[in-house]
Amino acid sequence: MTEELFREDATLDRCEATIVAIEEAGIELDRTVFYPHGGGQAGDAGELLAEDGRVLPIADTRKGARAGQIVHVPAAGADLGLWRVGERVGARIDRDRRDAHRRFHSATHLLCALVPHPVDGCSITAAYARLDFHMNEPLDKAALNAGIARLVAGAHPVTHRWISEAELDANPGLVRSMSVQPPRGQGRVRVIEIAGVDLQPCGGTHVSNTAEIGAVVVTKIEKKSAMTRRVVLGFADG
Ligand SMILES: [Zn+2]
Repeated sequence: MTEELFREDATLDRCEATIVAIEEAGIELDRTVFYPHGGGQAGDAGELLAEDGRVLPIADTRKGARAGQIVHVPAAGADLGLWRVGERVGARIDRDRRDAHRRFHSATHLLCALVPHPVDGCSITAAYARLDFHMNEPLDKAALNAGIARLVAGAHPVTHRWISEAELDANPGLVRSMSVQPPRGQGRVRVIEIAGVDLQPCGGTHVSNTAEIGAVVVTKIEKKSAMTRRVVLGFADG
């Protein structure tokens, strides 16, 4: 099982690690800063660096078939034959891509605070984020943008902590998403708190303070079905 350094510190952009498995799908490390695609959030890209200077570009990160397995997926055409199990490597993520994920992901938590309806879909990429709410009332773009701007300007701290599964079961209202259930089976669940704004189980990567979200705005609101309103977020500064 890979040690998930990104769960405790989403600002870490590199670490030293040892290759523990090499499969067709990619490379597994004993520890990593690469977030694997999940919970609606895209996986990290970046590179693995050998001590002799070899560089393996990583195009994506995915969860493997085994529980807790994280697969670093090489870019198309990369030669895995040059890499060995037991080898020490540096693992370095694409910082700009991660920062976009952190900003958009945190902004989706602000949306959850502004729209008091269950979430039934979520996608977070470096270019945009979208959140589907289970509701039929119309949403007002200008009001949502004013709300986001207010919460970003409020500079609210964003923190995480771990609670027991029993504590989660005793507080079912904590689970905002209908489509993404918090990961189970480890006895504990990670909870993200934006002080006074939002509290929910989440395994993704976030900013440390809502001020870091910066100029994120609602670019589109769509009626996807009778009971689904989709809110799309983008960067106001491109
Ligand atoms: Zn989150």
